[in-house]
Amino acid sequence: MKNYKPKKRLNASEYINGILNGDRVILSQAITVIESNLENDKILSKKIIQEILPKSGNSIRIGITGVPGVGKSTFIEVFGKYLIDQGYKVAVLSIDPSSQRSKGSILGDKTRMEELANLENAYIRPSASGDTLGGVANKTGETMLLCEAAGYDVILIETVGVGQSETAVHDMTDFFLLLMLSGAGDELQGIKKGIMEMADMIVINKADGDNVKKSEFAKLQYQNALHIFPQSESGWVPVVSTASSTKNIGIDHVWDKITDYKKLVLENGYFDKNRNYQQIQWMYNNINEELKRLFYASEDIKSHLKKIEKEIVSSKISPVKAAQLLIKEFKNSLLKRQ
Ligand code: GDP
Repeated sequence: MKNYKPKKRLNASEYINGILNGDRVILSQAITVIESNLENDKILSKKIIQEILPKSGNSIRIGITGVPGVGKSTFIEVFGKYLIDQGYKVAVLSIDPSSQRSKGSILGDKTRMEELANLENAYIRPSASGDTLGGVANKTGETMLLCEAAGYDVILIETVGVGQSETAVHDMTDFFLLLMLSGAGDELQGIKKGIMEMADMIVINKADGDNVKKSEFAKLQYQNALHIFPQSESGWVPVVSTASSTKNIGIDHVWDKITDYKKLVLENGYFDKNRNYQQIQWMYNNINEELKRLFYASEDIKSHLKKIEKEIVSSKISPVKAAQLLIKEFKNSLLKRQ
């Protein structure tokens, strides 16, 4: 284990004022507090979040996903610079499911988006680490709130399109953008139908050079594929377009569509409805995770699980009955502790 040196911390109001003044250094330090698992930092982090909460929410939250190599970082760099030219302040956050399992990370290893990172109105924060996707999503969600309070009005949350993390990103954003490549079926790209179904827009990236024709063809194919999905509750019909990040083609169109979407859902009430739903869901997800953690951490449960597994396998007890017994035992162990 590394030697642990206690970190110097500011007090809650210094963080809060710094964030509200748009101070990037203090914002970064506050995010470090939020990402920390130390008990004192957790207390500090709750205070910061509680205070900045009323100042958060004034942004459009955009989720961006696609398999490694599809061009996410190149796209975000060009898109981010375009938005900054339009006068926006842009924060880029990421959820990287790979970093939970191994030290290696699909998103974080290379130096990404250097040009964007150097702009005054951009803020880029690599993925938080954690043991569970829920934990990482919590930290990214709270980081998003801090960025909003610091004045960032476009939040881009990026993830790798290979696992559960797309759902986590979808559940904390207003608009979900899927980057794809031409010339490969969606199975080949490892994109599951469920992810396509979540997309408000599919962008066929790298539509340049020899790829232009293939990209136009892929666009038609995806347009057809999207027709089979039921109409979304937002009232928005997902769009497919082509773009080239390296040639800077089609980037403005992506923003035009996001603007159209925002106008529609603000008018029809879906924007607020969805945000409210997401907030409530966020709470339930936390309850579910914490209950699960408490359950499996309980010594009473730990000592019985193996035995009960054997009884299930030898048909001494049904899986349903076994689950009921364990839950009962868990409830009793909680009562004993009172
Ligand atoms: P990520 O893993 O999804 O973040 O993908 P990257 O942004 O790192 O891009 C992967 C590779 O594709 C890099 O070599 C990029 O230069 C290249 N690339 C990205 N966007 C484009 C594009 O629009 N056109 C072409 N031709 N290449 C691109």
